[in-house]
Amino acid sequence: MPVVTIQGILDGKHEGKSVTVRGWIYRKRESKKTIFLVVRDASGIIQCTVKTDNPSWIEAEKATIESSVIIKGTARQDKRAPGGYEIAVDKLSIIGLAEIFPITQDKSEEFLRNVRHLWLRSHRMNLIMKVRSEVLRFTHEFFRKEGFIEVSPPMFISTACEGGSTLFGLKYFGRDLYLTQSAQLYLEALIYSLEKVYCVAPSFRAEKSRTIRHLSEYWHIEPEWAFADMEDLMHIEENLLRYICQKTVKNCRREVESLDADISKLKAVKTPFPRITYTEAIENLMAKDLKIKWGEDFGYDDEKALAEEFGGPFFVYAYPRQIKAFYCKTHRDNPELVMSTDLLVPRIGEISTGGVREDDKEELLKRIRELSLKEEDYDWYIDLRRYGTVPHVGFGLGLERLLTWMLDLENIIDAIPFPRTIRRFYP
Ligand code: ATP
Ligand code: MN
Repeated sequence: MPVVTIQGILDGKHEGKSVTVRGWIYRKRESKKTIFLVVRDASGIIQCTVKTDNPSWIEAEKATIESSVIIKGTARQDKRAPGGYEIAVDKLSIIGLAEIFPITQDKSEEFLRNVRHLWLRSHRMNLIMKVRSEVLRFTHEFFRKEGFIEVSPPMFISTACEGGSTLFGLKYFGRDLYLTQSAQLYLEALIYSLEKVYCVAPSFRAEKSRTIRHLSEYWHIEPEWAFADMEDLMHIEENLLRYICQKTVKNCRREVESLDADISKLKAVKTPFPRITYTEAIENLMAKDLKIKWGEDFGYDDEKALAEEFGGPFFVYAYPRQIKAFYCKTHRDNPELVMSTDLLVPRIGEISTGGVREDDKEELLKRIRELSLKEEDYDWYIDLRRYGTVPHVGFGLGLERLLTWMLDLENIIDAIPFPRTIRRFYP
C-alpha cells in the first residue's frame, strides 16, 4: 500500500482505495463501538475510525495524543467527517507512544510560547510556516526573474549600519564586534561586480521596546542595484510586493483562508502604489491633530493613521536628513531632504525602508562627520566611492513584518518559528 499524504485523500485522489498514512494523533474520541483518531501529517488532518472487531482496537485504545503512527486503511468519502473524508482503519501501528501532551485547549498564550517547540505542531503554525516558505520562494523567483544575483553577506560585522542603539555586541576572539543589522553596506560592495544583487538573511536588532512588530532576530529581504534611481526603486519594490501577494492568492489560498486572513486585501494589491512625500504626510497628520512636527520621525500611531487612509500599501518619500541614516543621498535641490522611502501598510505601518545611496565621496564624508561616526570604521565603504562610484539604490523588507500584514497575525512572533525578543529566547 502506497504512503499517501492526508491532503491527497481530502482532495479525493484515493477514494475507495487502500492507503497508508504516517503522522501523529491530533485528537481522539471513543464511543462504545468506534475509536475516532484524528491524525495529522505535514499536509493535513483526517479522521480515522477503528471498530471494536478490529485487531488494532487495543493499539488504538493505547494511542495517546501526539503519538506517532502508521495507519493502513481504506480512504472513503463521509459527509459526517471533518473535511469530508475519513480512513476506515485496517491496521494501526504506534511508532512512538507519547507521554501526556502538555498542550490542551485551555492553555494561555504565555504557556504556548514557553512550549513553542511543541506548539509548532499546531494546525495554525503549520499553515503559517507553509505560507512563509512560499513567500520566500516567490521572493527568490521575483529577483531571479529580474536578473538579480543572490549573495551571502556576513553576520559578524565591525561597523554599525543602522545606528548604535539597536546593535548587539559580542566578543570575537577578544575583540568587540557586532551582529549585523542589515547587509546593505556589503551588498553595496557587491554591486560593483554583479550590478544587481539581493539576499535573504537574518538581521539582529537589540529592540528594547515590546511591540507587535519588532523581533530581535528577523529575516531581511535586501536588494541593491547599480545605475538606478528613486523611480526604479519604487517600481521594483511595488512589483515585488504585487508578485508575492498575487502568487500567494493563487498558490496558498487554502492556507490563507484557513488562517482566517483577509485574502481580498492581497488580491487588491495593484501597482502603482500611492506615493506621498514626508512633508505631505506631516501636513496630513497635523490636520488630524496628531502631535508630530516636521523633522520628527513617525511613531507607530502616526503610521497607522496614515495607512488607514490608503487602505493598502503606499510609499512615503523625501525624508528630512536628520532622521535618516548617513548613507542616504541628499536631495540636490533641497539639502534638508534625503532620497529615502518607506513602504507602509495598514495596521503594521512600515514594512520596508529604501532609498538612493550617497554616491559622492565628499558628501558621504560630510555626513559621516556630521553624525560623529568614526571615519576610519567606514574606510572600506568610502572606497566604493573612490573607485568607479555609481548611482545606486536598495531597500530592506522585513519578511516577518510582511507576513504579519499578509496573514493578519496579531503579533510578529507568530511569523517565525522560534521568535527572539527582549524576553524570549527559549526554546
Ligand atoms: P522601525 O522604525 O519600525 O523599528 P527601522 O526603520 O528601524 O524599523 P529599518 O532599519 O528601516 O528598520 O529596517 C528595514 C526593515 O526591516 C523594516 O522596514 C522592517 O520591515 C524590518 N525590521 C526592522 N527592524 C525590525 C525588527 N526589530 N523586527 C522585525 N522587522 C524589523
Ligand atoms: Mn526604516
